[in-house]
Amino acid sequence: MKKFATVLLGVMLIIGFSGCSQKESGESTGGIKNGTYTSTVKGNNAEITLEVQVKDSKIESAKVTNHSETPVLSDGAINDIPAQVVETQSLAIDTISGATVSSTAVLLGIENCLTEAGFSIDDLKAKKGEIKKEEDKTIDTDVLVIGAGGAGLSAAVTANQEGAKVVVVEKMPKVGGNTILAGGALNAVDEGSETAKKHKDSVELHFKQTYEGGNKKGDPKLVRILVNNAYSAIKWLKDLGMEFKPDTFTVLGGLWPRAHKPVEPVGTGFFKTFNNYITTHENIEVLLETKAEELIITDGVVKGIIASGKTGNKITINAKNVIIATGGFSKNIEMRQKYNTLWENLGENIKSTNHPGATGDGITLGLQANADLVGMEYIQLLPMGDPKTGSLSGNIEMAVENRIFVNKEGKRFVDEGARRDVMTAALMQQQDSQLWVIVDSHDYPTGEEVNNFNEKLNDLIKEGRAFKGDSLNDLAKAINVNPENLNKAVESFNKFVRGEIKDEFGRTLKDREINKGPFYAALRVPTVHHTMGGLKINENAEVIDKNGNVINHLYAAGEVTGGIHGENRLGGNALADIIVFGRIAGKNAAANK
Ligand code: ADP
Repeated sequence: MKKFATVLLGVMLIIGFSGCSQKESGESTGGIKNGTYTSTVKGNNAEITLEVQVKDSKIESAKVTNHSETPVLSDGAINDIPAQVVETQSLAIDTISGATVSSTAVLLGIENCLTEAGFSIDDLKAKKGEIKKEEDKTIDTDVLVIGAGGAGLSAAVTANQEGAKVVVVEKMPKVGGNTILAGGALNAVDEGSETAKKHKDSVELHFKQTYEGGNKKGDPKLVRILVNNAYSAIKWLKDLGMEFKPDTFTVLGGLWPRAHKPVEPVGTGFFKTFNNYITTHENIEVLLETKAEELIITDGVVKGIIASGKTGNKITINAKNVIIATGGFSKNIEMRQKYNTLWENLGENIKSTNHPGATGDGITLGLQANADLVGMEYIQLLPMGDPKTGSLSGNIEMAVENRIFVNKEGKRFVDEGARRDVMTAALMQQQDSQLWVIVDSHDYPTGEEVNNFNEKLNDLIKEGRAFKGDSLNDLAKAINVNPENLNKAVESFNKFVRGEIKDEFGRTLKDREINKGPFYAALRVPTVHHTMGGLKINENAEVIDKNGNVINHLYAAGEVTGGIHGENRLGGNALADIIVFGRIAGKNAAANK
């Protein structure tokens, strides 16, 4: 199925591609012409230009010379794929998950150039490049971090700032994990600031909503740490060079306008910032395509890990302290089914917003050290998944206050400012478990604006992932819902916004009416988003074992941990959690000699 999609994509790209040209012609060896070839292909965001040099029947070099793909997210496709083609002298290269469109485009551009040079593309595609198995090796470090998502890199940078030598292992070919796919909302209250005053917010309210929003199942001590340190996490990121927009907003299921939004798209700003730190400092490195397989434990003390490298080689890493920051298990259907008690069924039919590496490895690793697990049954679904992929992309809502949901009959069915579990449970009662999110032109004055996932609304419309109507009647027609119902739903919402009536579903979050055409809609479904449970930690981010004791020299941070969000996590609290607890883990691990 995936292969088919890739082929189809290739065909689509060919239609839009503008050929290949040879800059300098040269000698020909065995029918293959020496020279420098260029090709321009359509990428994810815009055109990508590539240059390939051919000499003596060999692919001498390949590189992308111009592109506008999303930074960080596309790095693997832009840099690694051309390098792999040269290294393996083949086109049998896997696309990079999370950057499939960019990868496919880069491969197609190289293929165009090699076709022009006279290579047999079939041969190059059939030839599995021979990657030499690298030597087994041993590395010594002060702090070893497993996982280069937001929690892992916050921990790594902090530990390095505290003077420790740090090694990070990341099993995927790129950094970022789920964090880079997030909409970027980070809840934090800067008490006394104009923003907090404007939104009548306080750290205490953040505490109350987080603790109560999780049905009081989180550990209040950990919740306090989260809310008390959230704003200093933002300050720390700003000191590292990351930029945030000035005002805060309400993210889906965030309950209050306290989410800070990075200037860079989705979660890329975090990784631009961390990458910048890592490349300009000594004693901190990230080993990509390196998977932690087991903990080295001697007499109950964690001493490092055994990892497998890119070529299957064994890497032994001796470390004074290990931090597990491997993220959640939303992509591990077996684990999901084993622990879930909140939902009827979390089998294959329910997709996930997560990246493919979210398979719960950290749980398995922690269990090797007899770690205790908490809240494993609390799995969060969002009512806002893409119907085909389950991902967050294609979601056209900008802020909770300004959109409504209607079901397939065109009727509202829930308070759209409610908790995520409440909205998803209500959605599951609707026909086909599908909703339409409805917004107007206040959010998208021209349609050329991007949503929270860096996608232009007009592109989503072209792709059939969003719909437009100059009037509500036109929109109803476009999405095949009853126009009378849709008009009624919007009218009653507008009356509530004007303060004329109480909202029939108890909604309180509002800002302005939905009354400015054209109007827009996008179809969404329930999707698995976050696993609230995981390794039990204390206030120092130390992992606790099944007897209630600290496991010496083992720390954990981020989605792999449990006990913070309870039964339901507020939108915008994950990014706060990973930075706050990542920093705590990094600081304490650096100090534990
Ligand atoms: P968090 O939000 O907690 O930081 P993320 O999902 O953003 O979580 O990041 C977790 C990272 O850990 C991902 O990049 C994932 O690929 C990586 N990871 C998961 N399991 C392993 C493993 N066994 N070895 C190395 N890296 C891992």
